[in-house]
Amino acid sequence: MSTWKFETLSLHGGQRADPVTGSRAVPIYQTSSFVFQSPEQAAGLFNNAPEVWAPRLTPAGYDPQAEGFPSRDSGNIYTRIMNPTTDVLEARMSLLEGGAGALAVSSGSAAVTMAVMNICRSGDHIVSSQSLYGGTHHLFEQTLPQYGISVSFFPSHRPDLAAEAISENTKCIFAETVGNPSLDTPDLERLAEVAHQHRIPLIVDNTVPTPYLCRPIQFGADIVVHSLTKFCGGHGTTIGGVIVDSGRFPWQDSDRFPMLTQGQPSAPSWVDAVGAGAYIVKARSTLLRDMGACISPFNSFLVLQGLETLPVRMDRHCENGLHVAQFLESHPKVGWVLYPGLPSHPTHEMAKRYLEHGFTAMIGFGIKGGLQAGQRFISNLKLISHLANIGDARTLAIHPASTTHSLLSPEEQEQVGLSPDFIRLSIGLEHIDDILQDLEQALDRA
Ligand code: PLP
Repeated sequence: MSTWKFETLSLHGGQRADPVTGSRAVPIYQTSSFVFQSPEQAAGLFNNAPEVWAPRLTPAGYDPQAEGFPSRDSGNIYTRIMNPTTDVLEARMSLLEGGAGALAVSSGSAAVTMAVMNICRSGDHIVSSQSLYGGTHHLFEQTLPQYGISVSFFPSHRPDLAAEAISENTKCIFAETVGNPSLDTPDLERLAEVAHQHRIPLIVDNTVPTPYLCRPIQFGADIVVHSLTKFCGGHGTTIGGVIVDSGRFPWQDSDRFPMLTQGQPSAPSWVDAVGAGAYIVKARSTLLRDMGACISPFNSFLVLQGLETLPVRMDRHCENGLHVAQFLESHPKVGWVLYPGLPSHPTHEMAKRYLEHGFTAMIGFGIKGGLQAGQRFISNLKLISHLANIGDARTLAIHPASTTHSLLSPEEQEQVGLSPDFIRLSIGLEHIDDILQDLEQALDRA
């Protein structure tokens, strides 16, 4: 990890003022393709040599003040595979998470899918916490099995059951650091231990806390994924995702990962070619290249604008979140409240252990009077927006059971911690008095 503190990396990580134009802001390289310097350079870029991709890594000890992007890169081909604006986003996210390299993609869902597919093929198996964003649950429960990848779920507070579910063809354990929507925090260190005892990596979706509240690699996670659409972008303008690799998992010590450790007739294995960068370089050179779920340079730029203020915004998000959770907990019309920062949350102790600076801006609650009262509450909100997203600068509300998690059966909804009356709030950056006033008047009418 570089010597710069988090706040400084949020603003400067992976970038220096443009050496040609002096541009202080990250330039938007809005181009599909890049002119080659010579036929030899073009051929070199196309021969898929891992050395072409390796310079995009951020090795431990990388000094962001030294020669930075874009001059460190070794040439560009086409924006589906790489782009200088996106290079900065990747380097910055990698530095913020303490990783060895990152790959930005078109959405959080693409990041989750590619993180798993990078080490799985037909016949393989993964073990996942059941406390998941609905889209990820559907991917694991319905879509991946259609391609021969099976998934076993465990309750996020039972790492022992994760261990029991691991078999010979298991390729990873997957969990969310703060599950959406149950907001439970698993014991990350224990999950990493279980995974490593079986020589498989722990993949963690760190979307809800962001690296400002939790850096899972410090607690043993091997791969971190994000929906950048949420708090990282932070303004509700942009869909994006990223995969960050710690560079620490010893793929070569296990025979489970031939896709990384065995060479092709025409090329050495990824591990032999790029060592610690094998996982992320392979993801770029195979999945991103072949499937094309790339982020646009403009979206990379917008996410970078969000990252610049991430620590300041997250402080306010968390402060407002705690206020609202306490307000709801003491309100006579509210039946129950779920917030990682309240002692009443079942995994509050884990949240205290793994989150710093605050307890996120996500709240679940139920109104006395059940689903119908909840719907009346949502219809009466004036300031707070009723929409399907989290992590906007504005406060948001939704009924997940009939929207974001509606593809799940009632039993699956129960498994992910969703009751029919569950209302999810994502608390924004407005003045707390205005947020509370809107909640109060909508509760009155509920
Ligand atoms: N992971 C989590 C925790 C999410 O909440 C979401 C979306 O809500 C995703 C992944 C998917 O992200 P995206 O909407 O950017 O595809």
